[in-house]
Amino acid sequence: MKRLIFLVVLVLASVVWIPSAEAQEAVRVLDQSVESVFRDHVTFRIKLESDSVIKEVRLLYRVTGLPATSRGDAQFEPGKTVEATFTIDQRRDYLPPGSEISYWWRVTTEAGDTLKTEPQTYLYMDDRHEWQMLSNERLALYWYRGDQDFGQALFQQANRTLDQIEDEAGVRVEKPVKIFIYGSHRDLMDAVEVGAHEWTGGQAFTEHGVVVINVSPNDLDFGLIAVPHELTHIVIHRATDNPYSDIPRWLDEGLSVYMSGELDSPFRGYRELVRLYARQNRLMTLQTLSSSFPADPEQANQAYAQSGLVVEFIIQHYGKETMAKLLNIFSQGSLYDDALREALGVDMWELDNAWRESIGAPPLKRPGAGEQAPETEQAIITAPTLSLTPPLTEEAMPSGGTPPPSETAGKTNIPCLSIGLVGVIVTALFVMLVHSPLNS
Ligand SMILES: [Zn+2]
Repeated sequence: MKRLIFLVVLVLASVVWIPSAEAQEAVRVLDQSVESVFRDHVTFRIKLESDSVIKEVRLLYRVTGLPATSRGDAQFEPGKTVEATFTIDQRRDYLPPGSEISYWWRVTTEAGDTLKTEPQTYLYMDDRHEWQMLSNERLALYWYRGDQDFGQALFQQANRTLDQIEDEAGVRVEKPVKIFIYGSHRDLMDAVEVGAHEWTGGQAFTEHGVVVINVSPNDLDFGLIAVPHELTHIVIHRATDNPYSDIPRWLDEGLSVYMSGELDSPFRGYRELVRLYARQNRLMTLQTLSSSFPADPEQANQAYAQSGLVVEFIIQHYGKETMAKLLNIFSQGSLYDDALREALGVDMWELDNAWRESIGAPPLKRPGAGEQAPETEQAIITAPTLSLTPPLTEEAMPSGGTPPPSETAGKTNIPCLSIGLVGVIVTALFVMLVHSPLNS
């Protein structure tokens, strides 16, 4: 024990010794810290001393996953000993919980000496809740309502999803994803951006690698498909992200629907729904499903159902390797038809008809050349974040051809009908089945 104490003293002595060596530097860091209040501010603080008057203190910082480095002039009284602060106003510049901010200081004195501190990383958390966490090298799941079994069930499901994405789409998680489970809708609304829709059930921040989602402990079945759905969006977006083009919406949503098990979830009734639409000859075309999904809840639900089934068809009919190849081609940036031809050997119209044939639906006529033109424009959409559970509204759906500037990337929402309308949808399906003359 004495020996241990002696060792500790030795270590401490060596730690204390280092600053005295640094004391010869023209600018010395006496202390630095970061303090934050979620959704309000992050304040960086540094205490410095110098032989000459310190005239400039700047903070440089970058949010992990975002391309741009920001800089800001700190507030302080010039002198030989200063305490400087720089605050990011979180009421204006929203960051999701779990964002990592790497930062360093640059200091200049009147004598022309400069100091650049070693970069450090600050983990910005929603500190209003006492989070429990389960993590491994691929993901971290945080929750505060519900017991250990609840968190464990969601964590296992998320891991199962990552295994399946790797197995069936050839995409591995390179950077860990953080999932925050909010225990109530009110808590979720208090955690997402001001102006988020009241119906929001969650948001996926692709570039930050963060999912925030509302799953109450008595709604675990919902969580077991909602978490995989949003997680799939993050993993697929990261794998296919490129400056030139996005993937078709049916592929994006279809992968999430397929990987989350929604095709066979009693929540959904997707297979029955598509059988019904096929019999009524009311299927949507893949071309239509390549851009924004319909705002009407019933049509949106059909769009998700068809997309999931087409993804399942590609994996089962063309093979897992083909899906992996398709995503790889999209990651380089490609027009939709070009990518499909290269990976599957068919264009979108031919794929559509192959799928229709597989479910016994009548074939589509090949559209005229003029009707195919919109594809090029629709291919160029930047979709950095996703949001769950709409009654979708057009104004919330950035479907235009202009990617947002990099400073705002990661803050745009693309609504994603996930599970919030389950009641509405199941009811609608029931009504349709009951009233369908073909349903005998
Ligand atoms: Zn989605």
